[in-house]
Amino acid sequence: MPNVNEIEQMHVATRYDSPLRYHVTSASRPHERHIVELDAYRLHGRCTCEAFAYRLEPHIRKGISPEQAVAEGLVNLRAGQDVRDGLSCKHLIECRRQFAADMTREFHEHAKKNANEARRSFEEDGPY
Ligand SMILES: [Zn+2]
Repeated sequence: MPNVNEIEQMHVATRYDSPLRYHVTSASRPHERHIVELDAYRLHGRCTCEAFAYRLEPHIRKGISPEQAVAEGLVNLRAGQDVRDGLSCKHLIECRRQFAADMTREFHEHAKKNANEARRSFEEDGPY
């Protein structure tokens, strides 16, 4: 049985209206839905949640890197959080994870389709 903190860390990211835009919900507050744009801010990404807008985005707007923000004590990392995620909210991190899973599945399906077409072509036309 997960405790309350673990439940709060569970988010569901689903692709929204383009491959780089996701809706992310919080399991503890399912009525809340944020939009994450993975390619905003020169591929850093942006989220519509308050934590991102008030705590993280001002540093990003100034051109401060996540490593710099952590080193200068502008932000605090959560336990186990990667320094490269120092200017990312939980939604952005979950969104990148889901994006990697979605892309892996799509590339796999694409490779399978290409292999099937190549085999069909070989069987119909022969090797030459
Ligand atoms: Zn967020």
